[in-house]
Formats: sequence, structure tokens, C-alpha cells
Amino acid sequence: MTAELTDAFAASTAASSTPSVGLVGWRGMVGSVLVHRFLDEGDFAHFNPVFFSTSSAGRAAPQFDGVELEEPTLQDAYDVDTLRKLPVIVTAQGGDYTKEVYPKLREAGWEGLWIDAASTLRMEDSSVIVLDPINRDVIDAGLDAGVKEFIGGNCTVSCMLMGLGGLFKEGLVEWGTAMTYQAASGGGAKHMRELLTQFGHLHQVVSDELADPASAILEIDRKVLQTQRDGLDASQFGVPLAGSLIPWIDADLGDGLAKEEWKGGVETNKILGRGEHLAPGVTSRGDRIPFESLCVRIGALRSHSQALTLKLREDLPVNEIEQIIDAGTEYATVVPNEKEATIEQLTPVAATGELTIPVGRIRKLDMGGEYMSAFTVGDQLLWGAAEPLRRMLLIAIGKL
Ligand code: NAP
Repeated sequence: MTAELTDAFAASTAASSTPSVGLVGWRGMVGSVLVHRFLDEGDFAHFNPVFFSTSSAGRAAPQFDGVELEEPTLQDAYDVDTLRKLPVIVTAQGGDYTKEVYPKLREAGWEGLWIDAASTLRMEDSSVIVLDPINRDVIDAGLDAGVKEFIGGNCTVSCMLMGLGGLFKEGLVEWGTAMTYQAASGGGAKHMRELLTQFGHLHQVVSDELADPASAILEIDRKVLQTQRDGLDASQFGVPLAGSLIPWIDADLGDGLAKEEWKGGVETNKILGRGEHLAPGVTSRGDRIPFESLCVRIGALRSHSQALTLKLREDLPVNEIEQIIDAGTEYATVVPNEKEATIEQLTPVAATGELTIPVGRIRKLDMGGEYMSAFTVGDQLLWGAAEPLRRMLLIAIGKL
């Protein structure tokens, strides 16, 4: 049944301007934000979605008001014969899925476009990392040269470039560092639940004392600490996050670098069309920009923040720097470097659910006129994950 219906899809795709697009990983965190964006923007008018699942093939595909599915059941996400009939596959299923299925699809002769949220293929010479408000030229060069792998970047890197991209695009950044403050949601849904459960547990052990204004704060402190050390479920993060922080994200590369920090340098450059591992057709836009990070998990629920130090190539006045940042992408917005504006607009609570990327705390540093600081926050499920994939799909089918 599946193969016949999908053959019909392939035929209709060839005959009409409405292609069929495979969606894998649509019910995960990134995937569900992606589907919401498709719905918000009316994107399903431009393609026929075919929903896949690694766990529930054969069940009913999701229903959305005003969206008529030509394929009403969930397809098997491991069925290469079904997948290979689609001209475009978008996946937010995760790296293990990509590792298992993608090589088999290519071995089976599939020549379609693979648009992926996972990091597996990002630094391959065959792929482009997509962030079109910053690197549309790189994407177009890759498409023209027949590149078939278009991969979403690391969430922190994409959010940083969406905020500070103007300075990079103008070639003004000589080097940079990012000190990150990353939310629990970067680890996935289970990590968010663990953090909230920890907060609840900590409150529970001192709720009587908190209700009594005369209780001793040191006793509250002692009880909380004891619970953090002995009494919290930390199976996802490994150590307690509520009321604490974790200054290491992703794998230990063995040379003092966390994998998240390595991604900061290599992916920033690859997105900008600099450094190594550029896709076919992408000519180098210049030398690699040294970019270092120190990545820290904090108890924010969603949206990643980062404090940047940049050395610019010129000693520009602050108002000019602000104008360049503001004009860098239509989503970057400068927050005045003042207390009230900063605490209102430059927090994960303010940024979550928004496509706008606020950039603030912009000032010159004591080290010299070329040195500046900035602080930026971005919803890592929007610009950090779903939105670049959504827009890449629209570019691929000629709608953006
Ligand atoms: P996720 O929430 O764990 O979802 C991945 C898949 O898990 C789902 O598509 C679903 O597949 C399966 N699943 C099993 N139980 C589920 C449940 N109870 N609820 C929902 N889905 C469930 O992963 P994710 O955070 O979206 O990440 C997907 C990829 O994007 C990863 O490669 C990640 O590294 C990357 N990424 C994540 C972020 C982020 O901030 N989270 C940012 C950038 C990139 P089936 O329907 O097939 O069962």
C-alpha cells in the first residue's frame, strides 16, 4: 500500500509544481516547532507533506485544519524504498537516524535533497550548513553545484550569527569568543522535565521555612544544598542543574575542549564560507576567523544566551557598530545598553517563542578601541533549529 501511494506522490510531484516532501522527526522538540512554523506561515500550500515515523508506521498521520494529506498514514522512516521516491526529505529525527538511513538512501541511488537538523553531516565536505539570512550566497552556490546535503547549524552558533551577523558579513571581526549560557531544552524534552522536577523538589524541602518569614536563611540554604547533593534525580544531566550550572556541554574531545565549543569555531566559519570543509561550488570567502567558546548549561528552560568579546578590524564608534548589527539581518535588534531595557528585553524569558534576536550590552572594552562586548539571546528551537530548515526547504522548492 505504502509503495503504491508513494508512487502516486512521485508521479504527482513530477507532473505538478507541488512537490512531495518527506518529514521525519516531526513530533520531537525541533520537529514540532518546525511543523508549527509550517502551519503559521501556510507553507503546506507549497508542498505535500509525507509524514514518517521510526516508531509508529501505519498509524494515522497528524491532521491539521485546512491541510489535506494525500498520504493519510505514517510511513516507515527506515523504509528506504519509500523514502527514495521523494525529491526532498527533511529530518529532525537525530544523528543516529541520519547515520543509519542516509548512507543506505544514497547507496540505493537516491538523488534528492536531504535537509537535516542533526550534526552528523555538518562538517562533511559534501554539505552546506544553512542559515540563509547570513549565507544565502553559500546555499545558492551549493545548489548550483549540485550539493544535496543542507544541514542546520549548531543552535548557539546560528543564534549568535543571526544576532551579530552584520559584523561578520562586513568582514569586521578579527576574532571572537563566546561565553554561553545554554538552556535545558538544548538537551531535549526529558532534560526540560528533569530541571523542572528538580526545582519543584528543592522548593518542597523548604516550603515550610519559606512560608515563615522568621525562619533562618542559613537553614534553608543547608537543606537545599543537602538535597542538591543527595536527593535529586539527575539522570539526564548527570549532576543537578537546578540552583547550579554545568560548565561542559556535549562530548569531551580529550584536548580540553567540549564538542559544543569545537562546533562554535568550525561551524561559524563554514556558515560564513570560510575555513575548511566547504561544499563543492562554494569558493572561500576568506581566511578562518578564530572563534573560541566556553559553553555552560544553566537553569533556563528554553533559549540560549551568550556573552561575546569581539576584536574588530577597525575602531568604530558604538553607534556605527549598533547600526551594522541592526542592519545585519531583519531579525537582529539592538537593545540599548541600559539597565531597564536590558533586564526587560535581553533574557531567555523575553526571547522565547520569538524570531527576533536581541543584541545588547554593546560597549567598547578597556583593552582598546577595537575591542567590544555584546550579549545576545535566541530561541534555539526557532533560529537555532527549525527556522533554517524550514527556509531551506522553501528555497529548495523555489518559494523563498
Ligand atoms: P527529540 O525531542 O528527542 O525528538 C526526536 C524523535 O524522538 C522524535 O521525532 C520521535 O520520533 C522520537 N520520540 C520518542 N519519544 C518521543 C516523545 N515522547 N515525544 C516526542 N518525540 C519522541 O529530539 P530534538 O531535541 O527534537 O532533536 C532532534 C535533532 O535536532 C537532534 O539531532 C538534535 O541534535 C538537533 N537539534 C536539537 C536542538 C534542540 O535545541 N533541542 C537544536 C538544534 C538541533 P518518532 O516519531 O519517529 O518516534
